[in-house]
Amino acid sequence: MSSFSLPVSTLGTPRIGPRRELKFALEGYWSGQIDADELLARAVALRAANWARQKALGITMIPSNDFSLYDQVLDTSVMVGAIPEIYGWSGGPVPLDTYFAMARGSQGHEPDPACAGHHHGPGQGVPALEMTKWFDTNYHYMVPEFTRGQRFMLASTKPLDEFREAKALGYHTRPVLLGPVSYLKLGKSKDPSLDPLSLLPALLPVYVEMLRKLAAQGADWVQIDEPCLVLDLDEQARQALRVAYGMFAYALPKLKLMLTTYFGGLGDNLDTALGLPVAGLHVDLARAPEQLDAVLAKAPNGLVLSLGVIDGRNIWRANLAKLLDRLEPVLARRGADHLQIAPSCSLLHVPIDLALETDLDPDLSNWLAFAAQKMDELATLGRALAGGRGVVAERIAESVLAASARATSPKVHDRAVASRAAAVTGEMARRASPFGDRHAVQRAILGLPSFPTTTIGSFPQTGAVRQARAAHAKGGLTAEAYDAFLRQETAAAIRWQEEIGLDVLVHGEFERNDMVQYFGEQLAGFAFTKSGWVQSYGSRYVRPPILFGDVSRPKPMTVDWWRYAQSCTAKPMKGMLTGPVTILNWSFVRDDVSRSAACRQIALAIRDEVQDLEKAGARMIQIDEAALREGLPLRRGEWGHYLDWAVESFRLCASGVRDETQIHTHMCYSEFNDIIDAIAAMDADVISIETSRSRMELLDAFVSDRYPNDIGPGVYDIHSPRVPAVAEMTALLEKATERLSAGQVWVNPDCGLKTRTWDEVRPALVNMVAAARQLRAMFAEAAE
Ligand code: GLN
Ligand code: ZN
Repeated sequence: MSSFSLPVSTLGTPRIGPRRELKFALEGYWSGQIDADELLARAVALRAANWARQKALGITMIPSNDFSLYDQVLDTSVMVGAIPEIYGWSGGPVPLDTYFAMARGSQGHEPDPACAGHHHGPGQGVPALEMTKWFDTNYHYMVPEFTRGQRFMLASTKPLDEFREAKALGYHTRPVLLGPVSYLKLGKSKDPSLDPLSLLPALLPVYVEMLRKLAAQGADWVQIDEPCLVLDLDEQARQALRVAYGMFAYALPKLKLMLTTYFGGLGDNLDTALGLPVAGLHVDLARAPEQLDAVLAKAPNGLVLSLGVIDGRNIWRANLAKLLDRLEPVLARRGADHLQIAPSCSLLHVPIDLALETDLDPDLSNWLAFAAQKMDELATLGRALAGGRGVVAERIAESVLAASARATSPKVHDRAVASRAAAVTGEMARRASPFGDRHAVQRAILGLPSFPTTTIGSFPQTGAVRQARAAHAKGGLTAEAYDAFLRQETAAAIRWQEEIGLDVLVHGEFERNDMVQYFGEQLAGFAFTKSGWVQSYGSRYVRPPILFGDVSRPKPMTVDWWRYAQSCTAKPMKGMLTGPVTILNWSFVRDDVSRSAACRQIALAIRDEVQDLEKAGARMIQIDEAALREGLPLRRGEWGHYLDWAVESFRLCASGVRDETQIHTHMCYSEFNDIIDAIAAMDADVISIETSRSRMELLDAFVSDRYPNDIGPGVYDIHSPRVPAVAEMTALLEKATERLSAGQVWVNPDCGLKTRTWDEVRPALVNMVAAARQLRAMFAEAAE
């Protein structure tokens, strides 16, 4: 067999450094410990290491401009000069501190992605841009903000600078740009009548200028990402793509563009994508393997196809033989000149190097691939395609062996779990009686006042709490001492809730590191990494749990804590659990069973916990589904299926209790209009939601005829250090009663209080209780 080489790319790599070097550099700079030169020098070193790693592992199409100090969308805004006036930029190079002001506000008040959105207390300098989720990932980008008559100009030459930086080190790279249509579609305007796509004609010349500069420096290929091509697009967006790429082809006939799509299939946008005058098209074959046939059938002969066969969103090792079975016929059909091998999307979304995980179970470890391992897989595929399977026979055999071990391992497959999941009946996902009947029983037993007050679960995670946890983890604090400390904190928090007159209490969650990790660590089927960090936003990284096997609950997880907490008070103490959909959505999940099947297993484990809490005497159990909405598929047509199984999973975990037991749920976001029927179908007795920032407007979705159950619309914005006044919360509650019936309304903050300090929480909750009392008085008078 003749030997040729097949281009192998990564589309982008993690930028944070294997030991979180970027985080420490940024935080050092923000706190004044290092200066800008030092920060930039460390960034240079990280990029150099990234390029070297890719080269060493056999990547031939190495990207540049995939690095970012904070976020690639923010970088794009800066590149095109889309810098809102408040940041005080008036042309010329954009100062580093202007960039960081856009990212974090001028006094570093970063938004909180757990409850993503725009917020900013008064008198705190300049606010950050709004931040939101990047498609359906857990990465968050800074939302571009446009004005009517927005002007664009090339304000940063970052793509060019990094291309040259790589060139000086001997790497001929393929620069990455976020495409103009996706960029505009990701943006917003305060002026709702301004359609960002209308700005395209103003934006395109800036892109052309950048592409020209890159071509002049010797770039032959540029990767241009248009992930919007996997979304539902209207004709206007498709036309925008035709205009943009028509212009690029006209202005730069020799420059080859790799139009890159990811996070799903092209679907009904396939013809649009294939009609664009570009040299190459990248398709995601991990999320949408089925699109390969359609792409092959329709792709013009001259088009270079980049096949995203290695999953860039998950951490599983590939079965190389299986992939080669698919790729070899494509190679035969299209020829080596028209084929490239790639991950499905940038490797930004996976941890960097499995080699750092020295404590993982060796079997599990053998089934995993992080970014470095995925690069190696890609290079191996490239070699096998170019030189025949024989040249990498051993590597292929190892991957097949790992796949078959995983497919049959008892660590993954638990017969008891499978048969239990198969035996689930519709009845198990239904409460015994309808809400109206339950409501009456619960009211009689619980004897709560109208407008009952409660909180969402967590209380401030103070320095003392975190220090004790760290000391315990490092062995400096014995289990007994740590436990005693936690009990003390819990008891004090309960005493204080009683003192200020809250009606339904929580234990404070001091024992929990994270609302998903806490449960994952106690469930069979989950594993945790030491260094498996993935960027969530800016310098914030997370280590998602790895859901690798059938899920079961070896023993109760929260019952002892609940029992202790309830023993401290005569008031009702809520049991506090994280729901199955949220646990699933914040984990790396199995690729050998469907998400819905995995979710059902988690639901059954949580169901056991719910029932054990009931048996222990809990009268109220809260099951948080903070991440239910963010699991919505990118395409509207797939929402129904997702919501069906997500709601069913919640109901399955919540429905194994008597009518007397009150099930609460909590969701910390504020868009419900489009999913209100699913929320209602969850049939929780009480739901608490975020509403304070939207001034109760979102309650329109909850008007009583569509949502009959009880609701706690948040009256206290926990994202801000500001203490809301009584009158403010009373006014919000009054507004709520205009939309809901008074008997439906609970009084609570928007979300958990763990990120606040006690000095903020104490007066705020005292005021909240006072506001509830005022409402009670008002409604009692009205009833007289
Ligand atoms: N019970 C959790 C808490 O209060 C809920 C957190 C969340 O919804 N993000 O912290
Ligand atoms: Zn919340």
